[in-house]
Amino acid sequence: MILRTLGYYDDFVCIGGACQNSCCIGWELDIDEATCDYYRSVPGPFGDRLRSHMAAGSFRDEDCHTFCLTVDGRCPLLNSDGLCDIVLNLGPEALCEICSEYPRYTFELGDAVEKSLTISCEEAARLMFTRTRPLAINESPLDTEETGEELAGDDFADTEESEEDTFENPADDGFEEAGDEENEDIAPEITFLRAELIRLLQDRALPLKTRVIRAIRLTEKAQALINEAPLSETPLMDSLTALFREEADVMVAPAEENDCVSHGENPVAENDSFSHIVRPAAGNDSSSQAEDPTAEGDSFSPAEDPTAEGDSFSPAEGLAARLDLLSGCEVLSSEWTDAVDRIRTAFDRQTPDWPAFMGKLYYPRQVDYEHLLVYFLFRYMPRAAYDFDAAGKLAFAVFATLVIRDLDWAVFQEKGGDFTVLDRIRTVGIVSREIEHSDYNLDTLFEDIAFDEHFHAEGLIRQL
Ligand code: SF4
Repeated sequence: MILRTLGYYDDFVCIGGACQNSCCIGWELDIDEATCDYYRSVPGPFGDRLRSHMAAGSFRDEDCHTFCLTVDGRCPLLNSDGLCDIVLNLGPEALCEICSEYPRYTFELGDAVEKSLTISCEEAARLMFTRTRPLAINESPLDTEETGEELAGDDFADTEESEEDTFENPADDGFEEAGDEENEDIAPEITFLRAELIRLLQDRALPLKTRVIRAIRLTEKAQALINEAPLSETPLMDSLTALFREEADVMVAPAEENDCVSHGENPVAENDSFSHIVRPAAGNDSSSQAEDPTAEGDSFSPAEDPTAEGDSFSPAEGLAARLDLLSGCEVLSSEWTDAVDRIRTAFDRQTPDWPAFMGKLYYPRQVDYEHLLVYFLFRYMPRAAYDFDAAGKLAFAVFATLVIRDLDWAVFQEKGGDFTVLDRIRTVGIVSREIEHSDYNLDTLFEDIAFDEHFHAEGLIRQL
């Protein structure tokens, strides 16, 4: 077995009391059975206190136990310093599975156990968005005994949905099962496809919009190959390999003609920043449209570019499509209702200054949006090994990234053109909590994306 991790997974350490959006507030968690038995046996006053906060039964599992939140939505074991009394009294090993696993997310793909950090966690998001180096996929051998142990922890209980502002169980992020009908036949092909798409999305010699268009077009072709695979004499891996080799050949010529930076010369390949992308200091965003990195290196001519003027949705039309899709989701918190209101207000303004937003925030921070696309793709593309819908997984990644951009736009307007790293961490957290922490919402979005033409290749490209 292989252990595959994304980005700064190994660097994560919970910041505990310093966290401004603690996962110990607003989440109602189920306690796994083994931990529950242990808590029942803890002697003394602390054991009595633990048990006094435990209640039997939850929304989805009447046999499990949960900690009842306080009236202000806090875990009753979270003390006034923002620290966990279980850890302080019994040590971190005494935490239940959910608390010890979050914000780590695990998924099995073929012969790999994949792990990433959920961006709803403030510190995980800070790790991602304060660094500009492309997110790396790291692999190392995984001891099979260790694997057995980790996967045995897969009996996370489900959430109890008892309070308006209670998010679903973050353990939905702790371990993701493949589904009842396990089918690993195309896991190697999906692994290959995802790696190629991530490589394209991180090709910083090109503007992000061009990279996303290429990824959408190639995934569309890859999806056709996946669909045809059962009737084809050519193995799917061979077809996919040929598809990407062909794409690489096509890209070489225009890059040379336009004097684009080649992969080998990519200034971000070896160091930590874009050569021509200015990351604005908080509150001092001096970047201008003239610095727009998409102005350089775009090897599509306007005639070939399907997003050329006249073919794109207006910002409001694109937003309407995304909000329509989101309307099928259950609302998990007032934080989300508020976010949607703020987005609507931003887009309803009489004179929305969309070009200023794109020039001052979106283009200079393309690296943030690249990270987001890679994060969502790494995390959700593996599902295609089981449902064969690779195009839907890429569409979800683009959709989720655009929704975060919508909220960025609202914050950017509210703050008169300012947008800090803290704003970035907050906006991704709000969107992640709403769409990633509910199986219902994820399933609804994947299903609706499959049937909504706005999220098929052409419609998606028009929203960029
Ligand atoms: S959200 Fe992340 S950093 Fe904050 S308390 Fe939870 S695990 Fe720690």
